[in-house]
Amino acid sequence: TRTPVNVTVTGAAGQIGYALLFRIASGHLLGADVPVRLRLLEIPQGLKAAEGTAMELDDCAFPLLQGIEITDDPNVGFDGANVALLVGARPRTKGMERGDLLEANGGIFKPQGKAINDHAADDIKVLVVGNPANTNALIAQAAAPDVPAERFTAMTRLDHNRALSQLAKKTGAQVSDIKKLTIWGNHSATQYPDIFHAEIAGKNAAEVVGDEQWLADDFIPTVAKRGAAIIEARGASSAASAANAAIDHVHTWVNGTAEGNWTSMGIPSDGSYGVPEGLISSFPVTTKNGTYEIVQGLDINEFSRARIDASVQELAEERDAVRALGLI
Ligand code: NDP
Repeated sequence: TRTPVNVTVTGAAGQIGYALLFRIASGHLLGADVPVRLRLLEIPQGLKAAEGTAMELDDCAFPLLQGIEITDDPNVGFDGANVALLVGARPRTKGMERGDLLEANGGIFKPQGKAINDHAADDIKVLVVGNPANTNALIAQAAAPDVPAERFTAMTRLDHNRALSQLAKKTGAQVSDIKKLTIWGNHSATQYPDIFHAEIAGKNAAEVVGDEQWLADDFIPTVAKRGAAIIEARGASSAASAANAAIDHVHTWVNGTAEGNWTSMGIPSDGSYGVPEGLISSFPVTTKNGTYEIVQGLDINEFSRARIDASVQELAEERDAVRALGLI
């Protein structure tokens, strides 16, 4: 039998946590034959609700679930962690300045990064979901100098999945027919969903669509503002699809991308495509055996260049702001 994988989830008692934990425990994160041990990290006010969720997890009698531990101490929560899903974050409240938001999140992600540095397993993989995800990942990474920098990633897979679905709707294709779509930049309103290299049943997606106006005025804003549209419609945020994307992100990272396809992940830049080294930006990546590589050599047209640059500029500003606050 296989050794269980330790999976730590922060913000475990939140909406995304509630949609995420059951799928981890049922084998969707790592594979149907991989036993897991869950660590739920919460703030003190969240502990009781996390205990309630743990009771429900018990009641599912998941054959793969080999234990649940609940704590408000990051040093305990990340002890021996192989996978960490950092979901809990300080939401932006009305009238809150960006600096205050970054500072509040620094107070969460800096100690978590340090605890990961000191206590996680050697093969730790970190996915940051809590917003602003890219910059929160940068803060955690900076606090974990002994962990290879590339183990800190941010989620843009929900944007990727939203873009796949919108493109399928527009062209009448199945999602499974679409390959090589890319989200570039920040997980924010400036993100750029790029279909110029995407393929629909083997044909170039931009040519199949043949409508740059639709790209600029419909597709890109629809993908970027989808979260707000769901809050408007549902009266609650897109927690289930966010949880699903977190599952997809880690599953692909661990199990690999299919031949002839790639995915989108927020990862530390190595300077590729003019993205300053060190920024945690979304790129097209292939994955294999638990490692990833940026897809190289793509031609970036003017339409794409301007949008990638704008999103990367925002990331650089967020980095400068957390640097000025002494968080990195
Ligand atoms: P959610 O579970 O709905 O969201 C958690 C985070 O995910 C937020 O930062 C949210 O960003 C982000 N997010 C990313 N993508 C999406 C998406 N598509 N839809 C919605 N959110 C998305 O928040 P809750 O308030 O329900 O729960 C948060 C939990 O975290 C609470 O239980 C709280 O106690 C806990 N917490 C734990 C911490 C810790 O473990 N140290 C620290 C802070 C909080 P956005 O703000 O942009 O919506």
